[in-house]
Amino acid sequence: MTDVRNLIIIGSGPAGYTAGLYAGRAMLNPIIFAGFSSGGQLMLTSDIENFPGYPQGIGGPEMMMELRSQASKFGCDIIDKNVDSVDLSERPFKVTVGNEVHLANSLIVTTGAEAIWLDAENEPTHKGRGISTCATCDGAFFRDKEVMVVGGGDSAMEEATFLTKFCNKVTIVHRREGLRASQIMIDRAKQNPKIAWKLNSKVKSWLGSEGSFEGAILLDTKTGAEEDISCDGAFIAIGHKPITDFLGGQVEMDQEGYILWKENSMTSVPGVFAGGDVVDTRYRQAITAAGMGCMAAIDAERWLEDNEH
Ligand SMILES: Cc1cc2nc3c(=O)[nH]c(=O)nc-3n(C[C@H](O)[C@H](O)[C@H](O)COP(=O)(O)OP(=O)(O)OC[C@H]3O[C@@H](n4cnc5c(N)ncnc54)[C@H](O)[C@@H]3O)c2cc1C
Repeated sequence: MTDVRNLIIIGSGPAGYTAGLYAGRAMLNPIIFAGFSSGGQLMLTSDIENFPGYPQGIGGPEMMMELRSQASKFGCDIIDKNVDSVDLSERPFKVTVGNEVHLANSLIVTTGAEAIWLDAENEPTHKGRGISTCATCDGAFFRDKEVMVVGGGDSAMEEATFLTKFCNKVTIVHRREGLRASQIMIDRAKQNPKIAWKLNSKVKSWLGSEGSFEGAILLDTKTGAEEDISCDGAFIAIGHKPITDFLGGQVEMDQEGYILWKENSMTSVPGVFAGGDVVDTRYRQAITAAGMGCMAAIDAERWLEDNEH
């Protein structure tokens, strides 16, 4: 057991580091457990063009190192370890990290969400370099190109429609005839002349070598026939999985495991706050995650003050 901290932040993406920066400046002396993937999802991307303040764009790892040093400058202790579990049954809360148990009067959870990938042959070769899971982030890199969107839900329809602003042609690939998306989204996509359809089809394998994506081999799910389809990029839109298993269901979540906010950024457990992609089923952007990290830190500070910590 260690001393009781005012605040422990779990996660080190834009939400976690921004929460740390605000909480540090408020003299809360937080620990940030940075986790298995220190810096979060942006460590996987080479160009960020939509974070305010970088008119020339900036590399993901570079931006995350800047956020880390800013959080550390204001007094955060950043520890590159994963939180295994938490005990929220009484205060101070217990945070278990390997053999250690850390105590805190409040917690901010910013553990993000992972995009679900297809696991088709050759996928690791093209992840983030030809195949993306975020059209808002990477669509502009495919100006005047042909791309594929995999998925049949609202996100897939939305991403495909958005991509037609840049791309000459967008092919939606879905393994069934029926689409899960709402009718209004399907109608919008169907009326778009730049969108083509490959239904009853799934990706068997991605084509091309490292640094040169060439398309996919599609498998007809009814006949088993294979077809090569060439394109310049692919977007996978089959869903995200929030990283909340380590919470053991102790805070209220939706059916998919996204943490629910109860009062401002506070969860169903008083003193436990959350922000970023772990609560966000809609925007999933660095700037919104950073904004929610800021909200969580301000809410935690006020809650600690109101509860005389
Ligand atoms: C390839 C790619 C490109 C992108 N490009 C852009 C872009 O150009 N612009 C943009 O705005 N957005 C972009 N995004 C989206 C953006 O990265 C996310 O919206 C943002 O990173 C979410 O921030 P977050 O802090 O909520 O979580 P994340 O960045 O996901 O960070 C989660 C953190 O939690 C930690 N963690 C998880 N579990 C534990 C645990 N048990 N214990 C301790 N720590 C834990 C992880 O180590 C990680 O540090 C991109 C995403 C991807 C995947």
